[in-house]
Amino acid sequence: MKVVRAEVMGMCFGVRDALKIINNIPDPRSVTIHGQLVHNETVLVQLDASGFAMTDETSRQEVPETPVVLITAHGVSDRERSRLADAGKRIVDTTCPLVTRVHQAALNLQKQGYFVVLIGRRGHVEVQGIIEDLERFDVVSTEDEVKRYPADRLGIVCQTTAPARTVERIREAIARDNPDAEIRFVDTVCLPTKEHQRSLERLLDQVEAMVVVGGRNSNNTRELAKLCQERGIPSIHVQGPNDLDPEWLSRFENIGLTAGTSTLDSTIDEVHHAMLQMTVNVEA
Ligand code: SF4
Repeated sequence: MKVVRAEVMGMCFGVRDALKIINNIPDPRSVTIHGQLVHNETVLVQLDASGFAMTDETSRQEVPETPVVLITAHGVSDRERSRLADAGKRIVDTTCPLVTRVHQAALNLQKQGYFVVLIGRRGHVEVQGIIEDLERFDVVSTEDEVKRYPADRLGIVCQTTAPARTVERIREAIARDNPDAEIRFVDTVCLPTKEHQRSLERLLDQVEAMVVVGGRNSNNTRELAKLCQERGIPSIHVQGPNDLDPEWLSRFENIGLTAGTSTLDSTIDEVHHAMLQMTVNVEA
């Protein structure tokens, strides 16, 4: 069996920078990470072992007990930042600059009188942070959710990890259902997400099956797996080498390997190594 690695995969600069900041914190026990630093189980276990407290993503309305609160790469609303500051918390901010760009784009559109349509996954922490500062908005994840909006100016922005093909389909649906509206589109999908997707598109022409590595609730990893599915290429989404299935792998000669933007290089290498080992064992 041959394993072909995607040209671009794995950790993006936003996650690397967040990890760099966190690795330089001298006293982890004084810090609560406000949500999941990254949607990656391996990293979360390491952070827990280092002594950081972590707020569950579903209970961020509570004020953490520690004096320092760390905002994750997914960002929070200005409202949330003020709430934590008012509670006397010192904030360490690891928000990715490309997430901040979406916040700014959405707020600028609102200020200019546009009704904001955010293309993204409702309930995702990044999306939550963006909409909490908006007054008139909608969140859509598929073209079926698009409506005729009660506004004559529509401003569209995207969650950073939204797939380009979904964005295009939703843009078209918004234009179709709102023929009289002036529509302004700001492409806020981040470059690493686009590069991961494009690299996977190229790889799908060369392989029979795909292994996608990343956290179960990592949006961009799930989108990579979804792209394989849409192209009719069998794929498995694994968090690490233990999730691999030797019997499944043995059915293919050429298998591609890609990984989401919060996957550690070491995890990708472990999966790659385990895939090669499994083939040797199955063939023996
Ligand atoms: S996926 Fe994009 S927006 Fe998210 S942390 Fe990485 S670079 Fe930043």
